[in-house]
Amino acid sequence: MPPEVTSENSGCSSASVSPEAMAGAPVRPIERIAPKVPMVDVMGGSARWQIPVHEHGFVALCDAMPRLVPEGKTADFAIVQAARVSYGEGTKLVNEDRGLVRYLLRHRHTTPLEMVEFKFHIAMPMFIARQWIRHRTANVNEYSARYSIVPDRFYRPSVDSVRSQSKSNRQGSDGMIEVGTAEQFLELLQDAESHYKKYLSLMEQGVARELARTALPVSVYTEWYWKCDLHNIFHFLSLRMDDHAQLEIQDFARAMYALIKPIVPIACEAFEDYRLNGMHLTALEIEAMRTGKPLATENSREIAEWEAKRVRLARES
Ligand SMILES: Cc1cc2nc3c(=O)[nH]c(=O)nc-3n(C[C@H](O)[C@H](O)[C@H](O)COP(=O)(O)OP(=O)(O)OC[C@H]3O[C@@H](n4cnc5c(N)ncnc54)[C@H](O)[C@@H]3O)c2cc1C
Repeated sequence: MPPEVTSENSGCSSASVSPEAMAGAPVRPIERIAPKVPMVDVMGGSARWQIPVHEHGFVALCDAMPRLVPEGKTADFAIVQAARVSYGEGTKLVNEDRGLVRYLLRHRHTTPLEMVEFKFHIAMPMFIARQWIRHRTANVNEYSARYSIVPDRFYRPSVDSVRSQSKSNRQGSDGMIEVGTAEQFLELLQDAESHYKKYLSLMEQGVARELARTALPVSVYTEWYWKCDLHNIFHFLSLRMDDHAQLEIQDFARAMYALIKPIVPIACEAFEDYRLNGMHLTALEIEAMRTGKPLATENSREIAEWEAKRVRLARES
């Protein structure tokens, strides 16, 4: 039979406790600790760094964490600092820092990379925003077309950059379409844009902005603030700078990469070496390489992928 639980043996006491003891220790004054070495702004004192993309788009870097780093270091410093927390020492020689960052990326020890964050302001067409928003680990705040009038900005490629449908990849494009068809397509885009005037006039007649916007095409631009840590930015970039991503989002991803590279050059170098320009081999591919036999599968897409990798290995070796 278990012993009876009483106020004496339960760990809880019904005896009265003074309000001071209930409140815990008082919050002590803030200690403001000066840096041991001079600190510099990773953005060189700029309000923002911006790269235009297409006719109306841009990627602007608005802020970074860490914003201040010891003189002579880059924001890679924060990755090293986090990784070395167990030693209580975050500032070693630059060479050692580089080796550690490269080790972390090679071995997918990624949480130290989450200590670096970037905040962007981006203007992009709706059809790009729909792809972008799938990256769920970012913090996003978007322009409200319920609250404000959508600006008159639409994505329109030039006549010589209208791509034709890929025959091998149902999701992709392949080469340029002939000029006559490209011109017809641009006329179609122009027709869709012509709804903009009606959109404005119907709102003047009292139609709610939240409904009026539904008549606008996905080529119209939206804007958002997008904040994300470096680990998840690298994930985003590895998918969206890749050839399989739609060309338009690749353009935005490359601009984003150009903005962060000067701030975390060591991590970016490792990202390029171990991820972006690296190659993943499946068990079947390793077996085919080892034995010199064809890939042990009937799957034509898998065989084509292995062929592409073999071409790349032969070209680059
Ligand atoms: C070339 C290409 C083609 C695509 N085609 C299509 C398409 O046809 N249709 C379509 O709908 N989408 C499509 N996508 C979107 C794709 O499926 C992913 O949604 C998108 O790339 C985001 O990837 P993610 O989930 O890894 O990224 P994030 O959302 O940024 O997540 C990063 C990582 O966090 C983890 N994570 C995040 N959320 C969760 C969760 N809820 N549960 C478990 N783990 C989580 C996962 O490990 C994930 O990889 C395409 C993407 C690309 C690059």
